Amino acid sequence: MLEFLEQWWFGAWNPGVLGIVIFTLVVTHVTIVAVTVYLHRFSAHRALEMHPALQHFFRAWLWVTTSMGTLDWTSVHRKHHATCETEDDPHSPKVKGLGEIFWNGVAHYKAACTEETHSRYGRGCPDDWIERNVYTKHSSAGIVLMLFINVALFGVLGITVWAIQMMWIPLFAAGVINGIGHHWGYRNYECPDAATNVSPWGIIIGGEELHNNHHTYPNSAKLSQKPWEFDMGWFWIRLFEICGLAKARSTGPVARQDPSKSNIDIDTVWAVLNDRFQVMAKYADDVVAPAVKREYEAADAGMQRLLKRGTRVLCREPSLIDEADQAQITQVTDHSDRLKNLYEMRQRLQAIWSKRGGNSDELLAAFKQWCLDAEASGEEALRDFVAHMKSYTMPQAAMARA
Ligand SMILES: [Zn+2]
Ligand SMILES: [Zn+2]
Repeated sequence: MLEFLEQWWFGAWNPGVLGIVIFTLVVTHVTIVAVTVYLHRFSAHRALEMHPALQHFFRAWLWVTTSMGTLDWTSVHRKHHATCETEDDPHSPKVKGLGEIFWNGVAHYKAACTEETHSRYGRGCPDDWIERNVYTKHSSAGIVLMLFINVALFGVLGITVWAIQMMWIPLFAAGVINGIGHHWGYRNYECPDAATNVSPWGIIIGGEELHNNHHTYPNSAKLSQKPWEFDMGWFWIRLFEICGLAKARSTGPVARQDPSKSNIDIDTVWAVLNDRFQVMAKYADDVVAPAVKREYEAADAGMQRLLKRGTRVLCREPSLIDEADQAQITQVTDHSDRLKNLYEMRQRLQAIWSKRGGNSDELLAAFKQWCLDAEASGEEALRDFVAHMKSYTMPQAAMARA
């Protein structure tokens, strides 16, 4: 009897406290990989192909560690991208408030799991025997099974391990990414919503930290874009690729630069369009920022205060500009003709990208005219920027020229 109680108290494995901590970190990391690589990048965005055996492993793992189904997660997430920062967005801190999404994100997720969301956004999700008869029909049985396994292994401490496992995704995925990833952090690109990179090292949440990069390139299997950024999910995808279990379909823009190219043709336009977020970031860094700096050095204290965040506000995604930002833009552009011109040129260039679904001759004409006006402006930084854009080419065109 005593032996039985002792075994129940300590569990069958008893690897010590450190062992249990390591075990917990490993299993929660596997859950993170299942969410970011399988649910997010593979199922919701089709950014990679995945071997059926690996898909089955992740589905079973998610069932026992999170009780989240592929159809629910995929469709709610696709809805988030399709309706980002609007009333219909299942988890926008801009609309619903950061505290609400951080602490109550799971409730918003569950509320969004409706028949309508499934039928509209759930295309391509698994609908086989095990999905219907096990994962969906008994969605909570998996986590109960996990509780028994943890208690059998670690005794009463297993309950703590289980509780941490159950909290991991609601806290990190629902709270940190859906809340903080649309609120705090830095932006590499002015994507058309408020998404931010929470940290340049995507380790704890498997790369999901790089949420601004992801909203900019949603179909990319790789979430890091800058050389100093690290994406743990991409590390796993590369490992799966080496083992023949996965294959990335896309890793971001495919446009290239050919220094020998200096004419503007439709290939230039498609290539610049393909890499437009990077191009617009370069416009902010190389054209607007130096001009703001020069104006700042010559300005009085009041204007310096306005110019301090000048580049950020002049180059910001329009839907993120509030009344205070707009007032600041007006004051800055009234103060400086040079900044006014650079601001208007940026608006014009942005407007050209929004015509990308239309007539390609008109697109080319508008782009050529923009480049001519930029070269005629007398701004050296603008001339250099045009020269940079002229070197753009798509891989097929570069191959044809070679
Ligand atoms: Zn998002
Ligand atoms: Zn996504």
